[in-house]
Amino acid sequence: KEFRNNVKPNWCPGCGDFSVQAAIQRAAANVGLEPEQLAVISGIGCSGRISGYINAYGLHGIHGRALPIAQGVKLANRELTVIASGGDGDGFAIGMGHTVHAIRRNLDITYIVMDNQIYGLTKGQTSPRSAEGFKTKSTPEGSIESTLSPLEIAMSAGATFIAQSFSSDLKQLTALIEAGLNHKGFSLINVFSPCVTFNKVNTYDWFKENIVNLNEFPDYDPSNRMAAMNKIMETNGMLTGLIYQNKERKSYENLIAGFQEQGLANQDIQLSQDQFEKLLAEFK
Ligand code: SF4
Repeated sequence: KEFRNNVKPNWCPGCGDFSVQAAIQRAAANVGLEPEQLAVISGIGCSGRISGYINAYGLHGIHGRALPIAQGVKLANRELTVIASGGDGDGFAIGMGHTVHAIRRNLDITYIVMDNQIYGLTKGQTSPRSAEGFKTKSTPEGSIESTLSPLEIAMSAGATFIAQSFSSDLKQLTALIEAGLNHKGFSLINVFSPCVTFNKVNTYDWFKENIVNLNEFPDYDPSNRMAAMNKIMETNGMLTGLIYQNKERKSYENLIAGFQEQGLANQDIQLSQDQFEKLLAEFK
Protein backbone atom coordinates (compact mmCIF):
# COMPACT_ATOMS: atom_id res chain seq x y z
CA LYS A 1 0.00 0.00 0.00
CA GLU A 2 2.33 2.65 -1.21
CA PHE A 3 0.66 6.03 -1.59
CA ARG A 4 3.97 7.82 -2.10
CA ASN A 5 5.12 8.51 -5.65
CA ASN A 6 8.42 9.84 -6.92
CA VAL A 7 7.19 13.36 -7.74
CA LYS A 8 9.04 16.01 -5.72
CA PRO A 9 6.51 18.52 -4.34
CA ASN A 10 6.88 22.05 -5.64
CA TRP A 11 6.23 23.66 -2.23
CA CYS A 12 8.44 26.02 -0.22
CA PRO A 13 10.51 24.32 2.50
CA GLY A 14 8.41 24.38 5.69
CA CYS A 15 5.03 24.74 3.95
CA GLY A 16 2.29 23.10 6.01
CA ASP A 17 1.02 21.24 2.96
CA PHE A 18 3.83 18.65 3.27
CA SER A 19 2.25 17.32 6.46
CA VAL A 20 -1.19 17.17 4.87
CA GLN A 21 0.26 15.10 2.03
CA ALA A 22 1.93 12.73 4.53
CA ALA A 23 -1.25 12.49 6.62
CA ILE A 24 -3.39 11.58 3.60
CA GLN A 25 -0.88 8.91 2.56
CA ARG A 26 -0.77 7.42 6.07
CA ALA A 27 -4.52 7.59 6.63
CA ALA A 28 -5.29 5.93 3.30
CA ALA A 29 -2.92 3.06 4.16
CA ASN A 30 -4.25 2.80 7.72
CA VAL A 31 -7.86 2.37 6.59
CA GLY A 32 -6.77 -0.45 4.29
CA LEU A 33 -7.12 1.21 0.89
CA GLU A 34 -5.14 0.24 -2.16
CA PRO A 35 -3.94 3.08 -4.45
CA GLU A 36 -6.39 2.03 -7.18
CA GLN A 37 -9.29 2.45 -4.73
CA LEU A 38 -8.58 6.13 -4.05
CA ALA A 39 -9.14 9.28 -6.13
CA VAL A 40 -7.75 12.65 -5.01
CA ILE A 41 -9.36 15.62 -6.76
CA SER A 42 -7.93 19.08 -6.17
CA GLY A 43 -8.57 22.67 -7.12
CA ILE A 44 -6.06 25.42 -7.90
CA GLY A 45 -3.55 26.93 -5.51
CA CYS A 46 -0.31 25.70 -3.98
CA SER A 47 -2.36 23.10 -2.11
CA GLY A 48 -4.10 22.05 -5.32
CA ARG A 49 -0.87 20.42 -6.44
CA ILE A 50 -1.39 17.71 -3.85
CA SER A 51 -3.29 15.41 -6.20
CA GLY A 52 -0.08 14.97 -8.21
CA TYR A 53 1.91 13.96 -5.14
CA ILE A 54 -0.15 10.97 -4.05
CA ASN A 55 -0.01 7.58 -5.73
CA ALA A 56 -3.71 7.21 -6.52
CA TYR A 57 -6.11 8.37 -9.21
CA GLY A 58 -5.81 12.14 -9.29
CA LEU A 59 -7.15 15.19 -11.04
CA HIS A 60 -5.86 18.74 -10.61
CA GLY A 61 -9.02 20.58 -11.60
CA ILE A 62 -9.89 24.24 -11.91
CA HIS A 63 -10.14 26.98 -9.32
CA GLY A 64 -12.95 26.39 -6.86
CA ARG A 65 -14.27 23.36 -8.74
CA ALA A 66 -12.69 20.42 -6.93
CA LEU A 67 -16.02 19.51 -5.33
CA PRO A 68 -18.22 19.31 -8.46
CA ILE A 69 -15.58 17.09 -10.07
CA ALA A 70 -15.21 14.96 -6.94
CA GLN A 71 -18.99 14.52 -6.71
CA GLY A 72 -19.10 13.45 -10.36
CA VAL A 73 -16.36 10.90 -9.73
CA LYS A 74 -18.19 9.50 -6.70
CA LEU A 75 -21.52 9.29 -8.50
CA ALA A 76 -19.92 7.59 -11.52
CA ASN A 77 -18.06 5.06 -9.41
CA ARG A 78 -19.22 4.75 -5.84
CA GLU A 79 -16.68 2.01 -5.19
CA LEU A 80 -13.91 4.63 -5.24
CA THR A 81 -12.94 6.43 -2.06
CA VAL A 82 -12.87 10.11 -3.00
CA ILE A 83 -10.84 12.88 -1.37
CA ALA A 84 -11.30 16.48 -2.53
CA SER A 85 -8.67 19.01 -1.50
CA GLY A 86 -7.61 22.60 -1.95
CA GLY A 87 -6.92 25.82 -0.13
CA ASP A 88 -9.09 28.31 1.72
CA GLY A 89 -9.18 30.65 -1.28
CA ASP A 90 -10.19 27.76 -3.52
CA GLY A 91 -12.90 26.32 -1.29
CA PHE A 92 -14.12 29.30 0.73
CA ALA A 93 -14.02 32.08 -1.90
CA ILE A 94 -14.59 31.14 -5.54
CA GLY A 95 -15.71 27.63 -4.56
CA MET A 96 -17.88 28.52 -1.55
CA GLY A 97 -21.16 27.92 -3.39
CA HIS A 98 -20.03 24.38 -4.21
CA THR A 99 -18.76 23.84 -0.67
CA VAL A 100 -22.08 24.72 0.98
CA HIS A 101 -24.14 22.59 -1.39
CA ALA A 102 -21.73 19.64 -1.25
CA ILE A 103 -22.02 19.75 2.54
CA ARG A 104 -25.82 19.71 2.50
CA ARG A 105 -25.88 17.10 -0.29
CA ASN A 106 -23.77 14.75 1.86
CA LEU A 107 -22.12 12.50 -0.70
CA ASP A 108 -19.51 10.20 0.79
CA ILE A 109 -16.47 12.42 0.10
CA THR A 110 -13.69 13.63 2.39
CA TYR A 111 -12.91 17.31 1.76
CA ILE A 112 -9.55 18.48 3.14
CA VAL A 113 -8.94 22.23 3.10
CA MET A 114 -5.41 23.54 3.62
CA ASP A 115 -6.26 26.80 5.35
CA ASN A 116 -3.29 29.20 5.39
CA GLN A 117 -5.40 32.37 5.54
CA ILE A 118 -3.79 33.88 2.44
CA TYR A 119 -3.44 33.28 -1.31
CA GLY A 120 0.03 31.70 -1.61
CA LEU A 121 0.24 30.70 -5.29
CA THR A 122 -0.43 34.26 -6.46
CA LYS A 123 2.18 35.58 -4.00
CA GLY A 124 0.24 36.76 -0.99
CA GLN A 125 -3.19 38.38 -1.17
CA THR A 126 -5.90 38.56 1.51
CA SER A 127 -8.24 35.54 1.49
CA PRO A 128 -11.70 35.12 3.05
CA ARG A 129 -9.95 33.48 6.02
CA SER A 130 -7.59 36.41 6.64
CA ALA A 131 -8.20 38.33 9.86
CA GLU A 132 -9.63 41.85 9.86
CA GLY A 133 -6.77 44.31 9.65
CA PHE A 134 -4.54 41.78 7.82
CA LYS A 135 -2.13 43.65 5.55
CA THR A 136 -1.14 42.23 2.17
CA LYS A 137 -0.51 43.59 -1.31
CA SER A 138 -4.28 43.51 -1.92
CA THR A 139 -5.14 45.20 1.40
CA PRO A 140 -2.16 47.49 2.17
CA GLU A 141 -4.20 49.40 4.77
CA GLY A 142 -5.46 46.17 6.37
CA SER A 143 -8.49 44.05 5.48
CA ILE A 144 -11.81 45.75 6.23
CA GLU A 145 -13.87 42.59 5.65
CA SER A 146 -14.95 40.20 8.38
CA THR A 147 -13.29 36.78 8.50
CA LEU A 148 -15.29 33.88 7.17
CA SER A 149 -15.92 31.02 9.60
CA PRO A 150 -16.05 27.74 7.64
CA LEU A 151 -16.98 25.75 10.75
CA GLU A 152 -20.07 27.87 11.49
CA ILE A 153 -21.09 27.78 7.82
CA ALA A 154 -20.64 23.99 7.69
CA MET A 155 -22.74 23.56 10.83
CA SER A 156 -25.56 25.69 9.46
CA ALA A 157 -25.40 23.89 6.09
CA GLY A 158 -26.21 20.59 7.83
CA ALA A 159 -22.76 19.00 7.84
CA THR A 160 -22.55 15.42 9.11
CA PHE A 161 -18.79 15.54 9.88
CA ILE A 162 -16.65 18.53 10.79
CA ALA A 163 -13.08 18.34 12.04
CA GLN A 164 -10.20 20.75 12.26
CA SER A 165 -6.50 20.12 12.70
CA PHE A 166 -3.04 21.67 12.44
CA SER A 167 -0.37 20.48 10.06
CA SER A 168 2.16 20.37 12.92
CA ASP A 169 0.08 17.71 14.64
CA LEU A 170 0.56 14.84 12.20
CA LYS A 171 -0.83 12.27 14.61
CA GLN A 172 -4.12 14.11 15.13
CA LEU A 173 -4.39 15.06 11.47
CA THR A 174 -3.88 11.47 10.31
CA ALA A 175 -6.45 10.18 12.81
CA LEU A 176 -9.01 12.78 11.70
CA ILE A 177 -8.50 11.96 8.01
CA GLU A 178 -8.97 8.28 8.86
CA ALA A 179 -12.19 9.16 10.68
CA GLY A 180 -13.30 11.22 7.67
CA LEU A 181 -12.57 8.35 5.29
CA ASN A 182 -14.54 5.99 7.51
CA HIS A 183 -17.49 8.41 7.84
CA LYS A 184 -20.41 7.51 5.58
CA GLY A 185 -21.16 10.96 4.21
CA PHE A 186 -19.46 14.28 3.51
CA SER A 187 -16.55 15.10 5.83
CA LEU A 188 -15.08 18.57 6.07
CA ILE A 189 -11.57 18.63 7.54
CA ASN A 190 -10.15 22.14 7.79
CA VAL A 191 -6.40 22.13 8.39
CA PHE A 192 -4.38 25.10 9.62
CA SER A 193 -1.51 24.77 7.17
CA PRO A 194 0.88 27.73 7.44
CA CYS A 195 2.21 29.54 4.38
CA VAL A 196 5.73 30.26 5.60
CA THR A 197 6.60 32.47 2.64
CA PHE A 198 3.77 35.00 2.54
CA ASN A 199 1.88 34.84 5.83
CA LYS A 200 4.14 36.24 8.55
CA VAL A 201 1.27 36.61 11.04
CA ASN A 202 -0.41 33.16 11.17
CA THR A 203 2.84 31.27 11.71
CA TYR A 204 3.43 27.86 13.34
CA ASP A 205 4.12 29.65 16.64
CA TRP A 206 0.98 31.76 16.32
CA PHE A 207 -1.17 28.66 15.79
CA LYS A 208 0.51 26.86 18.70
CA GLU A 209 -0.41 29.78 20.96
CA ASN A 210 -3.98 30.16 19.72
CA ILE A 211 -5.25 26.64 19.06
CA VAL A 212 -7.62 24.99 21.55
CA ASN A 213 -7.43 21.20 21.37
CA LEU A 214 -10.72 19.43 22.10
CA ASN A 215 -8.70 16.90 24.14
CA GLU A 216 -8.81 19.56 26.85
CA PHE A 217 -12.54 18.84 27.25
CA PRO A 218 -12.91 15.14 28.09
CA ASP A 219 -16.71 15.45 28.37
CA TYR A 220 -17.10 16.97 24.93
CA ASP A 221 -19.60 15.01 22.84
CA PRO A 222 -19.17 15.49 19.07
CA SER A 223 -22.64 14.10 18.39
CA ASN A 224 -24.20 17.09 20.21
CA ARG A 225 -24.92 19.71 17.56
CA MET A 226 -25.61 22.54 19.98
CA ALA A 227 -22.44 21.81 21.99
CA ALA A 228 -20.43 21.84 18.75
CA MET A 229 -21.82 25.21 17.70
CA ASN A 230 -21.20 26.66 21.16
CA LYS A 231 -17.62 25.40 21.24
CA ILE A 232 -16.90 26.84 17.79
CA MET A 233 -18.20 30.24 18.93
CA GLU A 234 -16.45 30.11 22.32
CA THR A 235 -13.07 29.41 20.73
CA ASN A 236 -13.57 31.78 17.79
CA GLY A 237 -13.19 28.78 15.48
CA MET A 238 -9.68 27.94 16.74
CA LEU A 239 -10.48 24.47 18.10
CA THR A 240 -8.94 21.27 16.76
CA GLY A 241 -10.23 17.71 16.87
CA LEU A 242 -13.46 16.01 15.85
CA ILE A 243 -15.97 18.82 16.28
CA TYR A 244 -19.20 17.28 15.04
CA GLN A 245 -20.36 13.95 13.64
CA ASN A 246 -23.85 12.76 12.76
CA LYS A 247 -23.72 9.03 12.08
CA GLU A 248 -27.49 8.71 11.60
CA ARG A 249 -28.04 10.60 8.39
CA LYS A 250 -27.67 8.52 5.21
CA SER A 251 -25.31 9.70 2.51
CA TYR A 252 -26.70 11.04 -0.77
CA GLU A 253 -25.85 7.98 -2.84
CA ASN A 254 -27.71 5.78 -0.37
CA LEU A 255 -30.87 7.83 -0.82
CA ILE A 256 -31.02 7.58 -4.63
CA ALA A 257 -33.53 4.91 -5.58
CA GLY A 258 -31.97 2.31 -7.88
CA PHE A 259 -28.50 3.84 -7.73
CA GLN A 260 -25.90 1.39 -9.08
CA GLU A 261 -24.13 -0.43 -6.28
CA GLN A 262 -21.41 -1.48 -8.66
CA GLY A 263 -19.04 1.15 -10.02
CA LEU A 264 -19.05 1.82 -13.74
CA ALA A 265 -15.54 0.43 -14.05
CA ASN A 266 -16.77 -2.97 -12.90
CA GLN A 267 -20.00 -3.20 -14.88
CA ASP A 268 -20.36 -5.44 -17.91
CA ILE A 269 -20.59 -3.59 -21.18
CA GLN A 270 -23.72 -5.13 -22.64
CA LEU A 271 -22.94 -4.32 -26.25
CA SER A 272 -22.08 -6.51 -29.22
CA GLN A 273 -18.76 -5.89 -30.94
CA ASP A 274 -20.64 -4.08 -33.75
CA GLN A 275 -22.53 -1.83 -31.34
CA PHE A 276 -19.32 -1.13 -29.45
CA GLU A 277 -17.45 -0.14 -32.62
CA LYS A 278 -20.34 2.14 -33.67
CA LEU A 279 -20.27 3.81 -30.28
CA LEU A 280 -16.54 4.38 -30.50
CA ALA A 281 -16.91 5.78 -34.01
CA GLU A 282 -19.27 8.45 -32.66
CA PHE A 283 -16.49 9.83 -30.49
CA LYS A 284 -13.80 9.87 -33.18
FE1 SF4 B 1 3.25 26.79 0.81
FE2 SF4 B 1 3.02 29.46 0.85
FE3 SF4 B 1 5.07 28.36 -0.43
FE4 SF4 B 1 2.60 28.14 -1.39
S1 SF4 B 1 3.78 30.03 -1.17
S2 SF4 B 1 4.12 26.48 -1.26
S3 SF4 B 1 1.37 27.98 0.49
S4 SF4 B 1 4.66 28.24 1.78
